[in-house]
Amino acid sequence: FTPGIEPQATWCPGCGDFGVLKALKQAMPEVGRNPDEVALFTGIGCSGKLNSYFNSYGFHTIHGRSLPVARAAKLANPDVEVIAAGGDGDGYGIGGNHFMHTARENHDMTYIVFNNEIFGLTKGQTSPTSPKGHKSKTQPSGSAKSPIRPLSLALTSGATYVARTAAVNPNQAKEIIAEAIEHDGFAHIDFLTQCPTWNKDAKHYVPYTDIQQSDDYDFDTSNREEAQKMMFETENKLYEGEVLTGRYYVDDESPSYQEEKQATGEMPEEPLAERYFDEDYEWERTADSLLDHHK
Ligand code: SF4
Repeated sequence: FTPGIEPQATWCPGCGDFGVLKALKQAMPEVGRNPDEVALFTGIGCSGKLNSYFNSYGFHTIHGRSLPVARAAKLANPDVEVIAAGGDGDGYGIGGNHFMHTARENHDMTYIVFNNEIFGLTKGQTSPTSPKGHKSKTQPSGSAKSPIRPLSLALTSGATYVARTAAVNPNQAKEIIAEAIEHDGFAHIDFLTQCPTWNKDAKHYVPYTDIQQSDDYDFDTSNREEAQKMMFETENKLYEGEVLTGRYYVDDESPSYQEEKQATGEMPEEPLAERYFDEDYEWERTADSLLDHHK
């Protein structure tokens, strides 16, 4: 994950996406994974360029669909460290269905959502996280509806790790990404990434408060009710101009989708990917055994 060997990033100067890339690169040595052990899946948008600048296996999927492709890869080869990424429009809008159900099923992966409160790549349209009243070319009179609550949605859907960090807070971002990768289950990071090109009126997420470092906030991240309350407060305050970040919910007890499926025998211990690339590989036999398995 050595910086400098990837192509020059083409994000605009001052874009928060640089902060995600930097934090992700810095997190990898902490989790002890090599590039050939990691697969990064992205959707469409400025965030979708992430895997072009990150030295690992990568798959630039279609709009809102990084999660189902990432799920398939993880199921085929559980040994691969799977990371998915998308923007707030990509992940909470177009791919909202996949977000809810990947969280509900607790698939073992990390999902980083670049949240800049607009669609960036397509020039600033209103997104699911745009504040009520936000004016754009698609909503010239201002967004009529309140924004989505990404942290609360992740929790109520079933995510077992939920955090928010910001590009302006690189040390916390690195630590949260490392924790999320090491977490066994679906880890959701709402990553605040300023878009100075198309969302000039938006805050740049400074100053921010780390809720784990502040005496003003004291709650148990393993308690769903306390986490939910803290998430609501955080989501409300963002639109009042106060940025709260940190870990909100950590459930280390619930089994991941893969663990549950293996426990019931529905998912073989031997990774599907290894069966395909076995030197004794015979297509017909493998196809037949798969069909038998699903009868
Ligand atoms: Fe970043 Fe916005 Fe430029 Fe996209 S349009 S690269 S989100 S600053």
